[in-house]
Parts: sequence; C-alpha cells; structure tokens
Amino acid sequence: MRERILDSENGGVPLTEINTLVIGSGAAGLNAAVQLHRQGVEDVLILTEGLNKGTSINTGSDKQTYYKLSLCGDESDSPKSMARDFFNGGGMHGDLALVEASGSVRAFSHLVQLGVPFPQDAFGQFIGYKTDHDPRRRATSVGPYTSREMCLALIREVKRMQIPVRENLTVVELAVAGEDGGRRAAGAIAVDSEGKFHAFLADNIIFATGGPGGLYEASVYPSVHTGGIGLALLAGAKARNLPDSQYGLASTKFRWNVSGTYMQALPRFISTNREGEDRREFLREYCESPGEMNSLVFLKGYQWPFDPRKINGSSLIDLLVYLETVEKSRRVWLDYRTDPNDLSFAQLSDEAREYLEKSGATQATPLARLQHMNPGAVELYREHGIDLSSEIMEIAVCGQHNNGGLAGNRWYESENISHLFPVGEVNGSHGVYRPGGAALNAGQVGGFRAAEYIAHRHAKPSAGISLLENALRESLCNVFSWREKCRLSPHDWRQECKEFRQRMSRAGAQIRSEKLLRQAVAEAREQWRRLGTEGCRAENAAEWAEVFTTRQLCYAHLVYLEALLFFVASGVGSRGSALTLHETGEPLHRLLGQNWKAKKEDESFREKVLETVFADGDFRHEWIQRRPLPETESWFETDWAVYREGRVYD
Ligand SMILES: Cc1cc2nc3c(=O)[nH]c(=O)nc-3n(C[C@H](O)[C@H](O)[C@H](O)COP(=O)(O)OP(=O)(O)OC[C@H]3O[C@@H](n4cnc5c(N)ncnc54)[C@H](O)[C@@H]3O)c2cc1C
Repeated sequence: MRERILDSENGGVPLTEINTLVIGSGAAGLNAAVQLHRQGVEDVLILTEGLNKGTSINTGSDKQTYYKLSLCGDESDSPKSMARDFFNGGGMHGDLALVEASGSVRAFSHLVQLGVPFPQDAFGQFIGYKTDHDPRRRATSVGPYTSREMCLALIREVKRMQIPVRENLTVVELAVAGEDGGRRAAGAIAVDSEGKFHAFLADNIIFATGGPGGLYEASVYPSVHTGGIGLALLAGAKARNLPDSQYGLASTKFRWNVSGTYMQALPRFISTNREGEDRREFLREYCESPGEMNSLVFLKGYQWPFDPRKINGSSLIDLLVYLETVEKSRRVWLDYRTDPNDLSFAQLSDEAREYLEKSGATQATPLARLQHMNPGAVELYREHGIDLSSEIMEIAVCGQHNNGGLAGNRWYESENISHLFPVGEVNGSHGVYRPGGAALNAGQVGGFRAAEYIAHRHAKPSAGISLLENALRESLCNVFSWREKCRLSPHDWRQECKEFRQRMSRAGAQIRSEKLLRQAVAEAREQWRRLGTEGCRAENAAEWAEVFTTRQLCYAHLVYLEALLFFVASGVGSRGSALTLHETGEPLHRLLGQNWKAKKEDESFREKVLETVFADGDFRHEWIQRRPLPETESWFETDWAVYREGRVYD
C-alpha cells in the first residue's frame, strides 16, 4: 500500500495505491479479504462505511439459515446433487450452481474453524434441517444472528491477519479504464464523514457492497444498509436477473421478518388510517370463515416469502397487506394483545390446530401463545423498544433479498469489466427460487473464488499506473462537477430518496404490471435527469456521503425499473416472489376488482437469464439461454494436470 497526493483540476486528493481493494465489510467482503491473504495476496485494503454497517452484521431472523452440503447421518449428498437443486430453481447458470455447491464444504468448514458455533451432535456431525426449496436437510443455523456471528468471527481473523481496514468511507464512484478493446476496474473515489474525498488506485476490486437495501420504502434490510450496486451500474457493469427478488411480511419500526411463531401465535391483523385511527380487522371479509383466515395466518409462519403460487393460500395475507398499505394508503399492524374476532380453535385447519395443541399453545391471547412457544421472540422486540403487551406493531410487505445483481463469471469476475469482482448479495448468481440460506453460502464461496483467481492471475500489476490514474482523474472530475451542481441545489436528498423508494415499493416490488411500470419508468427517468442536472444538497459536510449515495441509488432504481418493465413486457408472468397483473390473467379473488388478475408464469423463461447493461446511450436487456450444468469427467490424472498447469483459471 502506498500513499501520495493525486493532483487534479480541483486540487490535491489523498491517493492510496493498492493491489486489491475490497469495498464492503459484510460477511462476503470480510471473507474475500481473508482468502486473499491466505492465497498470498497481502497488498489488500478493506474500505467500508463501517465494520458495524451492512446487512450481515445487523440482521437476522427467527432461525437465520446457512445452506451447505449435507454432512450428517447416512443421507447421501454430492456437489452435483446440490448444484442440481440450485439449478432447478430456474434462471441460474449451471456452472455457477456447480461452483456454489462445490465450494460449500470449504466455505462452511472455514467458518467452523474460525469459531462460528454451528451445532454438532455428540459425534461431530453437523446436524441439519430442511429449509424452503430444499429437498434434503442441508440447512443449519446458529440462531437468530447467524450472519452476525459469521462477521464477528471474520473480523477477528481480519484483525489477527492485520489486514488494514479504513472505516467511515463511502465509495461514491468506481473508476474504470479502457484496455485491449474492453474495460477494466481502475479504482474508486470515496468521501469521509467530514466531506473530504479520497482516491484509491487498485489493480483489482472486490465489490462486496451487499443487496439494494436503500431502494424500497417497505424494506427489511437494516436501515443502516443502502447497498452500492448503483456504483457498478453507473460504471457500466452488466447486471443479471435484477427482477428476481424476495419479499415478505416484516415489522417496520424495528425491521424484522414476522415469520414462524410470530404468525403461528395467530395475531390480530388491523389497519388504520395514516394517523393511526379508524381501526379495522381487514382480512376477515376476504375469507370464507374466521377459521380459514386464521389458518392462512398460521401457514404464513413457515411460508414466509410472498409466493404468487400461494395466492389462494397464505400469500393472500401479503396481498391484502399490500392493498391496505399501498393501494389504500393505510397502515397495517399486528395486535398480540387480543384474539382476532371469532377465533375458534375448533374451526382451524387440522394442521394448525394440531400444531398448536401439540405445542401446548392454546392460551387465551396471541401474546400468551407466542410467549409459550418462543419467549425470545417477545423479548427481541422488547429489546428494540416494542412492547407487544401494550402496543400494536406496524408491518408491511418488505423487500428482503435480491437474487439477481451484477453478472459475474465462474471466478466472480464481472462479465464485462475485468478486475472487478462482485461477491456477496451484489452478485446476481441466483435464479428464480433459491433454497433459504443459499445467499450466505454464495457470499462465502464467491470470496474463495475471487481470491484464488486474483492470486493466480492478477496478483502482479497488470496495467500501467498512468492508465489507472487517468481513469481516476476522470472519475474525480465527474464527482466534483456533480458536487458543484449540488451546492446550489434546491432539492433535499431525503425527499429524493423518499420519492424513488415509494415508487419502487408501489411498482417495482412484489406486485407488478406493465401499466404501473411504464409510468414508474417515465417518472424514474425524469428524477434521474433532474438529479443529474440539479443535484441535491448537503446541509453539512457529513451529508456528502448521503448525497452521493442518493445519486447511485436513484440510478440503480432506474435500472431495476427498466429491467422490470422489460421482464413484464416479455410475458414471463408471475414467478418467484412477485405477482404480475394482466387483463387476460386469472381473477385473484371475488372481492378484488377487474384489475386484479394474475398472469400465469411462462416456465420457458426458467431456461433463460435476463441480462441488463447500459451501452451506446441506452439500456439493453436480453434473455440469454442459461448455461447447463457442466458434465464433468472428474478423471483424477487429467484434472490434476489441468490444475497443475493453472488451466483451471482459463
Ligand atoms: C431480514 C433478513 C433475513 C435474512 N435471512 C437470511 C437467511 O436466513 N439466510 C441467508 O442465506 N440469507 C439471509 N438474508 C440475506 C443475507 O443476510 C445477505 O444476503 C448477506 O448478509 C449479504 O452479505 P454481503 O456481505 O453481501 O453484504 P452486507 O452484509 O450488506 O455488507 C455490505 C457492506 O458493504 C458496505 N458498503 C455498501 N455500500 C458502500 C459504499 N458505497 N462504500 C463503502 N462501503 C459500502 C456496507 O457498509 C457493508 O459493510 C437475510 C437478509 C435479511 C435482510
């Protein structure tokens, strides 16, 4: 690592030169840095908003899941079998499925080695359970905070290895240079909490900025996490499967999925006007009987993500919450203090009644049932300032995870910007459906792959300093020229964020229609144009990070909406965690109007992958045939030779 001053038209800026810059310190970025070090690439710097920022260290769920190859009992499992299950989710490239399956044991064992307390039995077997889209028992967990435990263990390792970390820095622009007719990463510009700008010249960038948490108004990503995909999109990086995301019910004051026992306790769902008045139980009229309504709420407990295939079942609840909160602009709350009107255990479905009876959860109130089944669930909210015994709790259908993201190859290098390695949630390796816990696995495997490739192919400087430096200067110019516009701007960045977040939750989340999206895209283009020409203002130096984050998020929301419009107009229909409305579709419910008809999924699209890239002045979207699962011969002598000669990196 070398420090100097970079002269630019706007004066000198501190410059750090480094072989590999890791942007982001979530579970994925931290592991990538550790693996680089293990591979002998020691000229590494982690640059981050903060070690306590991002999704991994700030989030969790009832039983936060890590997905890995089965390592217990006599159930057979293999990389190919796990890869097939990833692949069968649709929309995922076969080679990436095999890579994420093959890397699973290595990534998991590494975490165990670092002290993450994944449960074992008395014989050392890593016991597992079944998660969603999982035909075996490959899932494991250390409790509600699996990803936090992973981060804490990885941070200890980063410190032990003395890998330098620069905190309180927000990257505002990626620098990209032209090389050999293509493009390559050159570095990044960041701003600190005092509004000072810093330049980083890097041969390689591991881009681990997480999912697009800052795009939605209704979001269960931690509020400190906005994500940075817009930076790479602004730099022209190719994206994949942006429309495939997961949405579900979550509390909004303290962001947490209300899955599992939160639903099985059968709380009362009420809606109010914006001021919190005019309380109504709104689910009942859409159900034949109180028994049906409460049975659907119960099922929601273990069918957490919104799923258009379950609209006649538990996902009706998400749909009705969306109607209240978005269409009717009301607010929705859970009340654990009193039972839903006319609750009768005798009227529940056999499944719900038997479960509650067997669990001894037949107490007189939802709170008492929740307390009985899962006391920690009540305590968790108390710790975060919500007392379920004395108040109602606001919820919404929230964005939780993006299966899509940037397009990387099987070594996690961007498909169109070399030396840029998106890893973690920002890498769109997943397809339509993925097993619960596959996100954490993918983030770890990505770090191993990228580090190994860098160590074998990019460890030495591969471009002239001047090429990279010129690209950095150009980026600085962009940054400073937009900053000048912002100085005079009448627009408040908070308002700008509110505008695109509301638009995304209305038109770009789990309920989609071509009409809504056309309008949303037009509005998004206008907002992006206005932000580009008029900027938005920082009230003080510390707000420059927010102002620039608003810029990349606004661009990201435009790209997502453009991709969503193309996706819907292509006729993909309802799939994954999103419902597409169409006039020729199936009516959703007798009480919903004519507009509420769902377009069925055209499953042929599961054999394709949607790519989005900005090129020649416009967005280009293209459905490409996905790559099949590789047929590997796995003959030791020949594969060994390929490995020895380094041809695995070709
Ligand atoms: C409520 C919830 C429950 C979940 N449950 C599960 C589960 O059970 N199983 C599972 O597999 N997955 C789950 N996920 C998803 C999983 O937690 C995330 O995909 C994963 O933690 C993302 O890790 P990451 O390292 O990619 O990103 P993050 O942990 O989000 O880290 C991103 C890092 O980048 C930094 N950063 C971002 N932008 C910038 C910038 N401009 N400049 C500098 N730094 C920047 C951030 O500060 C942070 O350090 C869940 C997610 C949520 C929200």
